Amino acid sequence: MTTLVIATRNKGKIAEIDRILKFENSEPNNAQAIKVRSVAEFDIDDVDETGSTFEENALLKALTVARATGFPALADDSGLSVDALGGAPGIYSARYSGVHGDDGANIDKLLKELSNTSLDRSGRFVAVIALAKPDGSYIMARGELLGSIAESKRGENGFGYDPIFIPAGSKRTLGEYLPQEKDVISHRARALAEIAPKVGRFIKEG
Ligand code: IMP
Repeated sequence: MTTLVIATRNKGKIAEIDRILKFENSEPNNAQAIKVRSVAEFDIDDVDETGSTFEENALLKALTVARATGFPALADDSGLSVDALGGAPGIYSARYSGVHGDDGANIDKLLKELSNTSLDRSGRFVAVIALAKPDGSYIMARGELLGSIAESKRGENGFGYDPIFIPAGSKRTLGEYLPQEKDVISHRARALAEIAPKVGRFIKEG
Protein backbone atom coordinates (compact mmCIF):
# COMPACT_ATOMS: atom_id res chain seq x y z
CA MET A 1 0.00 0.00 0.00
CA THR A 2 1.42 3.40 -1.06
CA THR A 3 0.29 6.64 0.54
CA LEU A 4 -0.53 9.76 -1.48
CA VAL A 5 -1.20 13.01 0.40
CA ILE A 6 -3.59 15.49 -1.17
CA ALA A 7 -2.41 19.01 -0.34
CA THR A 8 -5.86 20.51 0.20
CA ARG A 9 -8.24 20.69 3.16
CA ASN A 10 -11.23 20.97 0.80
CA LYS A 11 -13.24 17.71 1.19
CA GLY A 12 -14.98 18.23 -2.16
CA LYS A 13 -11.66 18.42 -4.00
CA ILE A 14 -10.33 15.33 -2.19
CA ALA A 15 -13.44 13.32 -3.13
CA GLU A 16 -13.13 14.48 -6.77
CA ILE A 17 -9.44 13.57 -6.93
CA ASP A 18 -10.02 10.18 -5.29
CA ARG A 19 -12.88 9.47 -7.71
CA ILE A 20 -10.93 10.41 -10.85
CA LEU A 21 -7.70 8.64 -9.84
CA LYS A 22 -9.57 5.40 -9.14
CA PHE A 23 -11.55 5.70 -12.35
CA GLU A 24 -8.58 6.49 -14.59
CA ASN A 25 -6.09 4.04 -13.15
CA SER A 26 -5.62 0.52 -14.38
CA GLU A 27 -2.82 -2.03 -14.13
CA PRO A 28 0.12 -1.49 -13.66
CA ASN A 29 -0.95 1.84 -12.13
CA ASN A 30 -3.35 0.15 -9.73
CA ALA A 31 -4.97 2.92 -7.67
CA GLN A 32 -6.52 0.33 -5.35
CA ALA A 33 -3.04 0.05 -3.85
CA ILE A 34 -2.81 3.82 -3.24
CA LYS A 35 -4.16 5.16 0.04
CA VAL A 36 -5.26 8.78 -0.37
CA ARG A 37 -4.90 10.96 2.73
CA SER A 38 -5.63 14.64 3.28
CA VAL A 39 -2.97 17.08 4.46
CA ALA A 40 -5.49 17.91 7.22
CA GLU A 41 -4.50 14.57 8.87
CA PHE A 42 -0.99 15.97 9.40
CA ASP A 43 0.15 18.78 11.66
CA ILE A 44 1.34 21.15 8.91
CA ASP A 45 0.76 24.87 8.39
CA ASP A 46 -0.90 26.12 5.20
CA VAL A 47 1.60 26.79 2.41
CA ASP A 48 1.88 30.45 1.32
CA GLU A 49 1.16 30.73 -2.41
CA THR A 50 4.09 33.01 -3.29
CA GLY A 51 4.57 31.87 -6.90
CA SER A 52 3.75 34.00 -9.92
CA THR A 53 2.16 31.25 -12.06
CA PHE A 54 -0.33 28.40 -11.49
CA GLU A 55 2.55 25.98 -12.10
CA GLU A 56 4.82 27.58 -9.48
CA ASN A 57 2.08 27.62 -6.85
CA ALA A 58 0.94 24.03 -7.48
CA LEU A 59 4.54 22.80 -7.33
CA LEU A 60 5.32 24.85 -4.22
CA LYS A 61 2.36 23.27 -2.40
CA ALA A 62 3.11 19.72 -3.59
CA LEU A 63 6.84 19.88 -2.76
CA THR A 64 6.30 21.50 0.65
CA VAL A 65 3.73 18.92 1.69
CA ALA A 66 5.80 16.00 0.31
CA ARG A 67 8.87 17.12 2.27
CA ALA A 68 6.87 17.80 5.45
CA THR A 69 5.02 14.45 5.43
CA GLY A 70 7.65 12.22 3.82
CA PHE A 71 4.99 10.98 1.34
CA PRO A 72 4.29 11.84 -2.32
CA ALA A 73 1.90 14.80 -2.42
CA LEU A 74 -0.53 16.06 -5.03
CA ALA A 75 -1.55 19.74 -5.13
CA ASP A 76 -3.63 21.88 -7.44
CA ASP A 77 -3.79 25.56 -8.22
CA SER A 78 -6.58 27.01 -10.29
CA GLY A 79 -8.28 30.21 -11.33
CA LEU A 80 -10.00 32.23 -14.00
CA SER A 81 -8.05 34.16 -16.66
CA VAL A 82 -9.86 36.83 -18.68
CA ASP A 83 -8.20 37.81 -21.98
CA ALA A 84 -9.21 41.50 -21.96
CA LEU A 85 -7.79 41.85 -18.44
CA GLY A 86 -4.38 40.48 -19.37
CA GLY A 87 -5.13 37.14 -17.68
CA ALA A 88 -6.52 38.60 -14.44
CA PRO A 89 -7.71 37.57 -11.92
CA GLY A 90 -5.49 34.52 -12.65
CA ILE A 91 -3.55 33.27 -9.64
CA TYR A 92 -5.34 35.91 -7.53
CA SER A 93 -8.81 34.52 -8.36
CA ALA A 94 -9.70 33.55 -4.78
CA ARG A 95 -8.83 37.02 -3.44
CA TYR A 96 -9.58 39.30 -6.40
CA SER A 97 -11.85 41.60 -4.37
CA GLY A 98 -9.29 41.81 -1.58
CA VAL A 99 -11.03 39.32 0.73
CA HIS A 100 -9.99 35.67 0.35
CA GLY A 101 -12.84 33.41 -0.77
CA ASP A 102 -15.60 36.05 -1.04
CA ASP A 103 -17.15 34.69 -4.26
CA GLY A 104 -19.87 37.37 -4.48
CA ALA A 105 -17.43 40.25 -4.12
CA ASN A 106 -14.99 38.66 -6.59
CA ILE A 107 -17.75 38.33 -9.20
CA ASP A 108 -18.95 41.91 -8.62
CA LYS A 109 -15.44 43.22 -9.15
CA LEU A 110 -14.93 41.22 -12.34
CA LEU A 111 -18.28 42.32 -13.85
CA LYS A 112 -17.39 45.93 -13.03
CA GLU A 113 -14.00 45.61 -14.73
CA LEU A 114 -15.76 44.28 -17.83
CA SER A 115 -18.65 46.75 -17.75
CA ASN A 116 -17.26 48.53 -20.80
CA THR A 117 -19.19 46.35 -23.25
CA SER A 118 -16.71 46.87 -26.06
CA LEU A 119 -14.32 44.60 -24.17
CA ASP A 120 -13.86 41.05 -25.39
CA ARG A 121 -15.38 38.81 -22.67
CA SER A 122 -13.48 35.61 -23.52
CA GLY A 123 -11.51 33.77 -20.89
CA ARG A 124 -10.61 30.40 -19.47
CA PHE A 125 -10.53 28.41 -16.28
CA VAL A 126 -7.08 26.94 -15.66
CA ALA A 127 -6.06 24.14 -13.29
CA VAL A 128 -2.55 22.87 -12.75
CA ILE A 129 -1.97 19.65 -10.81
CA ALA A 130 1.50 18.91 -9.43
CA LEU A 131 2.59 15.60 -7.96
CA ALA A 132 5.89 15.72 -6.03
CA LYS A 133 8.00 13.31 -4.01
CA PRO A 134 10.09 14.14 -0.92
CA ASP A 135 13.27 13.76 -3.06
CA GLY A 136 12.17 16.80 -5.14
CA SER A 137 11.12 14.96 -8.31
CA TYR A 138 7.74 15.89 -9.75
CA ILE A 139 5.28 15.68 -12.65
CA MET A 140 2.62 18.26 -13.63
CA ALA A 141 -0.47 18.56 -15.81
CA ARG A 142 -2.55 21.57 -16.94
CA GLY A 143 -6.24 21.57 -17.87
CA GLU A 144 -8.19 24.46 -19.39
CA LEU A 145 -11.85 25.19 -20.01
CA LEU A 146 -12.44 27.93 -22.61
CA GLY A 147 -15.47 30.18 -22.47
CA SER A 148 -16.72 33.69 -21.85
CA ILE A 149 -17.93 35.89 -19.03
CA ALA A 150 -21.71 36.41 -18.79
CA GLU A 151 -23.23 39.88 -18.28
CA SER A 152 -24.75 38.81 -14.97
CA LYS A 153 -24.95 35.84 -12.57
CA ARG A 154 -27.08 32.81 -13.52
CA GLY A 155 -27.55 29.52 -11.67
CA GLU A 156 -27.06 28.30 -8.13
CA ASN A 157 -24.66 25.38 -8.68
CA GLY A 158 -20.90 25.19 -8.35
CA PHE A 159 -18.72 27.74 -6.58
CA GLY A 160 -16.43 30.70 -7.27
CA TYR A 161 -16.99 32.25 -10.69
CA ASP A 162 -19.27 29.45 -11.97
CA PRO A 163 -22.44 31.64 -12.13
CA ILE A 164 -20.77 34.02 -14.64
CA PHE A 165 -18.75 31.55 -16.75
CA ILE A 166 -20.25 30.24 -20.01
CA PRO A 167 -18.27 27.31 -21.50
CA ALA A 168 -17.54 27.70 -25.23
CA GLY A 169 -20.41 26.31 -27.31
CA SER A 170 -22.88 26.50 -24.44
CA LYS A 171 -25.63 28.99 -23.59
CA ARG A 172 -25.66 28.12 -19.88
CA THR A 173 -23.31 29.33 -17.16
CA LEU A 174 -21.49 26.69 -15.10
CA GLY A 175 -23.83 27.74 -12.29
CA GLU A 176 -26.59 26.14 -14.38
CA TYR A 177 -24.65 22.90 -14.95
CA LEU A 178 -25.25 19.81 -12.84
CA PRO A 179 -22.13 18.81 -10.85
CA GLN A 180 -21.73 15.63 -12.93
CA GLU A 181 -21.94 17.67 -16.16
CA LYS A 182 -19.22 20.05 -14.96
CA ASP A 183 -17.07 17.07 -13.89
CA VAL A 184 -16.84 15.93 -17.53
CA ILE A 185 -15.51 19.21 -18.96
CA SER A 186 -13.88 21.08 -16.09
CA HIS A 187 -10.31 22.34 -16.14
CA ARG A 188 -9.59 20.37 -12.94
CA ALA A 189 -11.05 17.14 -14.34
CA ARG A 190 -8.97 17.54 -17.52
CA ALA A 191 -5.72 18.08 -15.61
CA LEU A 192 -6.51 15.15 -13.32
CA ALA A 193 -7.39 12.89 -16.25
CA GLU A 194 -4.01 13.70 -17.83
CA ILE A 195 -1.99 12.98 -14.71
CA ALA A 196 -4.04 10.04 -13.41
CA PRO A 197 -2.53 7.32 -15.67
CA LYS A 198 0.98 8.37 -14.52
CA VAL A 199 0.35 8.54 -10.76
CA GLY A 200 0.81 4.88 -9.82
CA ARG A 201 4.08 4.39 -11.67
CA PHE A 202 5.51 7.76 -10.57
CA ILE A 203 4.94 7.31 -6.86
CA LYS A 204 6.04 3.68 -6.78
CA GLU A 205 9.28 4.08 -8.74
CA GLY A 206 12.61 5.17 -7.26
P1 IMP B 1 -7.90 27.36 -5.56
O1 IMP B 1 -7.31 26.54 -6.64
O2 IMP B 1 -8.70 26.54 -4.59
O3 IMP B 1 -6.91 28.29 -4.92
O4 IMP B 1 -9.02 28.27 -6.25
C1 IMP B 1 -8.74 29.50 -6.78
C2 IMP B 1 -9.99 30.29 -7.09
O5 IMP B 1 -10.25 30.22 -8.49
C3 IMP B 1 -11.27 29.81 -6.42
O6 IMP B 1 -11.44 30.39 -5.15
C4 IMP B 1 -12.32 30.33 -7.39
O7 IMP B 1 -12.57 31.69 -7.17
C5 IMP B 1 -11.63 30.17 -8.72
N1 IMP B 1 -11.94 28.85 -9.32
C6 IMP B 1 -11.08 27.81 -9.50
N2 IMP B 1 -11.72 26.78 -10.07
C7 IMP B 1 -13.01 27.19 -10.22
C8 IMP B 1 -14.16 26.53 -10.74
O8 IMP B 1 -14.18 25.35 -11.14
N3 IMP B 1 -15.30 27.27 -10.74
C9 IMP B 1 -15.36 28.54 -10.29
N4 IMP B 1 -14.32 29.19 -9.78
C10 IMP B 1 -13.14 28.50 -9.76
